[in-house]
Amino acid sequence: MKNIRTLFFVALALLTAACGTTNTVPITGRKTRLLVDDAQILGLSSQQYQDYMKGAKLSTNADNTALVKRVGQRLATAVETYLRDNGYSSELQNYRWEFNLVANKQANAFCMPGGKIVVYEGILPLTQDESGLAIVLGHEIAHAVAKHSAEQLSKQMRQQYVAQIGGTVLSQAAQAKGMGSTAALIDLAGQLGFNFANLKYSRDNEMEADHLGLIFAAMAGYDPQLAIPFWQRMSQQGSSKKSELFSDHPSDEKRMAALQKRMPEALKYYNPPVSAPTQKKATSAQKKSVATKKK
Ligand SMILES: [Zn+2]
Repeated sequence: MKNIRTLFFVALALLTAACGTTNTVPITGRKTRLLVDDAQILGLSSQQYQDYMKGAKLSTNADNTALVKRVGQRLATAVETYLRDNGYSSELQNYRWEFNLVANKQANAFCMPGGKIVVYEGILPLTQDESGLAIVLGHEIAHAVAKHSAEQLSKQMRQQYVAQIGGTVLSQAAQAKGMGSTAALIDLAGQLGFNFANLKYSRDNEMEADHLGLIFAAMAGYDPQLAIPFWQRMSQQGSSKKSELFSDHPSDEKRMAALQKRMPEALKYYNPPVSAPTQKKATSAQKKSVATKKK
């Protein structure tokens, strides 16, 4: 009898983990099933973020570091206002925004759940000014707001279950859920090789991040139309395929077409500030670097 009861509770826990909870993405209204809750994903993110930052070298350029923090915070404030005004107030507790600029020549950036955003110095010659940077940060903030990393982790957990590779994966997830602890999830992420710092999102996630990113930039007072020349510059530089910003995208032409299609919607959110954001131009050295890379 005791065994039957134990089996019942294990089955129930598995079912709960397999079904998960429904998340509705702001603005697009897309619904996803997540097998991990916010507390778990934030615990895992916090641990991986601390590990990453321990090994990262921060930029020594004070002006550029301040620029990343200023533009990032401006976007975060606009996004939080939108969430608060549109029925997502409970989500605000999930964000402790941090914007870091690291010394790395790759044209890249990433965002961990909870709003831990890392920008590589190598992308600044391509963003060129404050609005270009807002497009990148809008895209990264969008991944966080849409909970794309929880979606990818849930997908990997389901795949492991379906493939029955290591039969303990889902039961560990259920255990983690039941305990409300992140310890088991950290173990599970280790087994899956899942890391937020080099996560590859799905093509649909990337398209959604482009879409939301345009709108978030517009909400913060940056002209979303500047996304087009920015993504063109990104597509023209050779190493971009390794970047999170190109992790699984259709052709550049399709990306541009999708951005153009979303532009009228983004422009509805665009109210140019009375005093326009400082259009900090790239230094001549940065421009030269872009010109060299373009060949
Ligand atoms: Zn992305």
